[in-house]
Amino acid sequence: MATDLYEILGVKRGANDNEIKSAYRKLALKWHPDKHKGDQEAEKKFKEINVAYEILSDKKKRQQYDTFGSTSGPSGGFQRGGNGQAYGFDFGGFDFSGYSGGGGGGFADIFESFFGGATQGGGRRKKSAARRGSDIEARINIAFEEAIFGCEKELEITKPDLCQHCNGKGSEKNSQIVTCKTCGGAGEIRSVKNTILGQMTTARTCEQCNGEGKVPEKLCTVCSGTTRVRTKERIKVKIPAGVDNGTTIRLTAKGEGGIKGGQNGDLYITLDVGPSDKFIRSGNDIHSQLKIHVLQAILGDEVEIETLRGKQSIKIPPGTEDGKVFKISGQGVAKQGGGTGDHIIKIKIEIPKKLSKKQKELYEELATEVGLDIKKSGLFW
Ligand SMILES: [Zn+2]
Ligand SMILES: [Zn+2]
Repeated sequence: MATDLYEILGVKRGANDNEIKSAYRKLALKWHPDKHKGDQEAEKKFKEINVAYEILSDKKKRQQYDTFGSTSGPSGGFQRGGNGQAYGFDFGGFDFSGYSGGGGGGFADIFESFFGGATQGGGRRKKSAARRGSDIEARINIAFEEAIFGCEKELEITKPDLCQHCNGKGSEKNSQIVTCKTCGGAGEIRSVKNTILGQMTTARTCEQCNGEGKVPEKLCTVCSGTTRVRTKERIKVKIPAGVDNGTTIRLTAKGEGGIKGGQNGDLYITLDVGPSDKFIRSGNDIHSQLKIHVLQAILGDEVEIETLRGKQSIKIPPGTEDGKVFKISGQGVAKQGGGTGDHIIKIKIEIPKKLSKKQKELYEELATEVGLDIKKSGLFW
C-alpha cells in the first residue's frame, strides 16, 4: 500500500497547488463511492486520496508532512505508531477519528457525509485522551562470549516521556481550568467548504484544547502543555545466556512514555554479536579446527583443545584421517529450553614442509621400511 501522499495523488514532490488539485479531482471522481458501491478497496482508495489532498492542499500541513512525514509535528507524529507501524503514514491502520490529533479532523466529516454518517450539529467530538507510547527499536553490540554466557549492558535512550514537572497534566500547579478561547468551549471548529463534490460542513477538533473545550489557564512551563518532554534514560539490559546474532529482546514499558495516562511503549533491542577468532557458532553448536602433525595422525595422541569453557584434552586415535570430526557433547551453547549444544572439532593434518637432514633420513628409512621405492628427483627436497 502506498504510504507516500504524493504517490497517492500521482504527483511529483514539487507539484504546485494546481497540479495537486487537478490530480485530486481526477482521482476523486474515478474512485467516488457512488461508482463503486460496496467495493471496500475503492472506498479505502477514496479515503486515501482525500487524506492526501487534505494534507497536500494545506500549506502548513504539507510543509509539516514534507519535514516530518506526518502532520502532527515532531512531538506527536514523527514516531512509530503505538501498534508498531513504521514511521510516517500508514493507511492500513489509519484511524480517522484520531486524525484530528494532527490538527485536521475535517476529513472525517467529509468522509461521513459521503458514507451516510453525516455530521450532526451540536455533538462535540472528544478525542480519546489516553494513548499508548510508541515502541522504540535499538541495537547493541555484544562480544561472541557475551552472547554465549549472558551479560549485562547499559544503553542510553532518548525518547519522549512523561513531563515530570506537571506529571503529565500539561498545566502549572494550581492553574485554573478555563473555557478554551479558540473554540469557545465547543471543542471543535466548524467551517463550510466548497469542494468539487458540493458544499460541505466540516468540523475539526480544536487544536488548542484537543477537543476538550477547556484548557488550563497556565500551561506547564516545561512541556508547554504537551504533557511530554524528550528525556534521556540509561537502561540496564540483562542479556540471557545463549542469545545469537539478531536476537531481539523486549523490555516492556521501556519505550516512549504514554500520552495522558496511556501505557508506555516497549523497547526492542536487537543484538549484533561479534565474531570469535577461535570458534564458529552454528545455532547451539560450536565448531573449531584442530591442526595436528601427520605423525600424530598416524600414531595417535592425546592433545589439548580449547573449548568455550577452557582447555580440555581429547584422544586422537592412531590412523586418524584429515577432515575427521570429533564431538564433545555438552560443550556448546546453552539452549533456551534446557540442555547444551556440542563442540565439533574438525581435524586438519599438517604435513611438514621443511625437514632437517636427520628427519629426512628417518622418513626415507621409513619409506624403505614400508616398501616404497621413492624416486628422489620427484620429491621437493
Ligand atoms: Zn478549543
Ligand atoms: Zn509539563
